[in-house]
Amino acid sequence: MTSSASFPDPVAAAVQQAYARYGQQARTWLSGYTQRGGQVYCGAGCTACCTMPIRVSLAEARIMAGTLDAELARAVEAHARAAVANARTAPNEDEYVRRHRLHIGFCPILDRATGGCSRYDARPTRCRDTFSALPARYCAAETWESMGQRERAEYQRVVARTPGTDGELHFIAPLEHLSEPVWEAASRAMRRAWGLEVWGDFWLLTTLAQDERFMAAVQAGDGRRAWQLASGRGLAHRMLLELAPATR
Ligand code: SF4
Repeated sequence: MTSSASFPDPVAAAVQQAYARYGQQARTWLSGYTQRGGQVYCGAGCTACCTMPIRVSLAEARIMAGTLDAELARAVEAHARAAVANARTAPNEDEYVRRHRLHIGFCPILDRATGGCSRYDARPTRCRDTFSALPARYCAAETWESMGQRERAEYQRVVARTPGTDGELHFIAPLEHLSEPVWEAASRAMRRAWGLEVWGDFWLLTTLAQDERFMAAVQAGDGRRAWQLASGRGLAHRMLLELAPATR
């Protein structure tokens, strides 16, 4: 695996520091949770959540982009193009997510042989803070849709009495809250360094992060130019690429 080595630029450094703080806090929280009898069903080889669409900051995508070899970069770009095609044709967000999970499928960064993330150290916040308090079956695409009324009611009862959930979904909510400072650190660092915040689809931004002209426009705070460059490559869609000038 290629590791995300140290990055000299302040945007990446701010995110790396926030990842480290989150990692420490999450480990401490998880240790207390399991000591109190809480269960976490995630682990190496469990890949059910790696079909989900992922929203990231460009700050995070740059870290991932720095770890890719040419072959994986091509696979990530193909995934991004499939996401754009889906966004252009999906009638609504639910259908977008459904198609993404079922038809676009696994993140190309997943090592299908081991079931592990091949760029674990560089994975984005969403991949770091998604933990399941129920077996992986409940994280898989279409599980909810395939459940009958009684099974859905039972799921809701189990989730409501499972510690660590928000009472509605089986994901462990405090870990998602603990990661909020990472999003905030990325937002602050982008505003400060670029005068521009860039958020969007993980694979699309990871592809654009390798594009020198796109990055030059972003670093100059020129969102309009950055959008044009992404558009010229067929990688601009308002659902998947958000460029917002810093307002404070
Ligand atoms: S980056 Fe890694 S953990 Fe995240 S979806 Fe891709 S393979 Fe899974």
